[in-house]
Amino acid sequence: MFCEIASGRQPARIVYQDDLVTAFWDIHPQARVHILVIPNQHLTSLREAEETDPVLLGRCLQVAARVAREAGIAESGYRVLTNVGPDAGQSVYHLHFHLLGGNRLRMALG
Ligand code: AMP
Repeated sequence: MFCEIASGRQPARIVYQDDLVTAFWDIHPQARVHILVIPNQHLTSLREAEETDPVLLGRCLQVAARVAREAGIAESGYRVLTNVGPDAGQSVYHLHFHLLGGNRLRMALG
């Protein structure tokens, strides 16, 4: 499904896109700012990280920082997280980093 967003076949509120990465608003926001950052290339989760170009993974985090700055939450703070597999509650099996901010975030470490 996120492949379709990256390729433009499915609509989304895209805030950033380049040849490697796409960032778009989460459809069910859990914070005032809730944006997802995905690699355009399909990876199921961070589980595939060791077989993945580290430049691509690094670019995702760089874009998260850029989008956070552009959303005006760089100073107030934010959280970047990724869910991997069933115990973490991953529901979409295309690697995505949640960028959450714009209000005080609850701590949920398990
Ligand atoms: P996770 O549970 O970590 O796999 O996160 C999946 C996220 O994708 C959830 O926060 C959903 O609200 C979000 N989501 C699912 N479908 C879409 C979509 N079509 N556009 C934007 N966000 C979506």
